[in-house]
Amino acid sequence: MTSPMASAVVRRQSRDHAVVLGASMAGLLAARVLAESYRTVTVIDRDVMPEIRTHRRGVPQGRHIHILHSRGLQVLNELFPGFTAQALQTGAELGDTLGSVRSVMSGYRLRQTDIGLPILFASRPLLEGQVRTRVRALPGVTLKQGTDIAGLTMSADRRRVTGVQCHGSGRAVAGTPETIVADLVVDATGRGSRTPVWLPEWGYQPPARERLEIGLGYATRSYRLRPGALGSDKAILITATPDHPRVGMVVTLEGGRHMVGLSGILGDHPPTDPAGFEAFAASLAVTDVADAIAGAAPLDDPVAFRFPASVRHRYERLRHLPEGLLVLGDALCSFNPIYGQGMTVAANQALALRRLLTCGRDPAPREYFRAIATVTDSPWDLAVGADLAFPGVPGTRTAKVRLVNAYLPRLHAAAAHDVTLGAAFVRVVGLVETPQTLLRPDRVLRVWWTNRRR
Ligand SMILES: Cc1cc2nc3c(=O)[nH]c(=O)nc-3n(C[C@H](O)[C@H](O)[C@H](O)COP(=O)(O)OP(=O)(O)OC[C@H]3O[C@@H](n4cnc5c(N)ncnc54)[C@H](O)[C@@H]3O)c2cc1C
Repeated sequence: MTSPMASAVVRRQSRDHAVVLGASMAGLLAARVLAESYRTVTVIDRDVMPEIRTHRRGVPQGRHIHILHSRGLQVLNELFPGFTAQALQTGAELGDTLGSVRSVMSGYRLRQTDIGLPILFASRPLLEGQVRTRVRALPGVTLKQGTDIAGLTMSADRRRVTGVQCHGSGRAVAGTPETIVADLVVDATGRGSRTPVWLPEWGYQPPARERLEIGLGYATRSYRLRPGALGSDKAILITATPDHPRVGMVVTLEGGRHMVGLSGILGDHPPTDPAGFEAFAASLAVTDVADAIAGAAPLDDPVAFRFPASVRHRYERLRHLPEGLLVLGDALCSFNPIYGQGMTVAANQALALRRLLTCGRDPAPREYFRAIATVTDSPWDLAVGADLAFPGVPGTRTAKVRLVNAYLPRLHAAAAHDVTLGAAFVRVVGLVETPQTLLRPDRVLRVWWTNRRR
């Protein structure tokens, strides 16, 4: 509900003004597509954005590994021509999803070869900073930073969201509270989104919430590795198995740095003291991460991140929604970050929004949320299904989930020898193919045949 604070109404001259709540990846990508259809777009964030590539408070996950999968890179290049070249100029590294990543999956080392499926390695501040620069350069787009969103305003009949109430952020709340009138509001405020709380205050049902408790803990530290410590690889990925449910990653970053990420589920969290961090790395199923950091120079102290659960709000199932309010990014669905899907899914959601906008009218909420569900289903099923392979994760294991979780280790075993299967698998991980493609009869037969010959 609107807050009772006195508001100075800032009325925009145009009737076609979109306001995006949150200037992180999802909000910026939404602003990019909205700028094609709305005369003015205002993006609001509580943070004051750093000029240089440094971390910011509103995105604490930015201190941890953020790889951009192939599909995400494709979309960013579509929305911002030359994106990859620009990222490489600023120090990002391009790799091949199968050839450059030393992956140990279900305990099997995938056979590596370049398959022409790019993956981008860069720090999160670099990626977000580049997207932000491109969005800010768009005509009609304004970034209103250092501004806290307090609530939304509604029409008298409560059928339509009409604007946003906000005030200066920071300890000493600066400036007059104001209301910004909007024809469309897009909530991209991440996991803390207030839309599920606001809806019942306005007399609507809240969205059903799916929540998979995984009790994930991350710890991350940056290093300067010994020359040649990774050989010709740009990254190492040791995934968890029910027998060894710990994950280790090493990723090349700009500036000759490497980021090492460790994680465990169900409370088995990596410590953040340097000795404990290294001991956790040494406890992984294989020694690749420990070997890589042996003799390396640490550049900072390990930092932690807790991610209790993957959460999806099912807006597409609501029969009644106010006009003029959409939700995207982590505010709608946030996945176990181990699978590195969040930015790519936000990019796909932005494209789905763009397709609806080409119809020349404000997207109807139900139509929008159904379109968003379509691009969110596969990555959600992938992440949730994979997490349900761990017996301690509470949740219903359907026959399909059990089948896929029995099949994947066999596929990984075969992919240790057969690059065709490895390529098929990483195309799914890179979100360029759907998980169903792995169950094609020719692929299943190939898995069976390869394992039989081993
Ligand atoms: C540990 C970790 C690692 C990850 N690794 C990867 C990876 O490798 N690859 C990948 O693709 N994704 C990864 N992700 C996911 C990725 O970070 C998100 O999916 C992505 O940032 C999109 O999020 P978002 O823009 O929806 O929300 P967020 O990034 O959470 O941003 C929300 C924004 O809203 C602003 N905001 C919130 N509330 C208010 C308010 N009241 N007033 C004003 N502003 C507000 C915040 O300041 C922030 O800028 C990872 C996530 C985590 C937690």
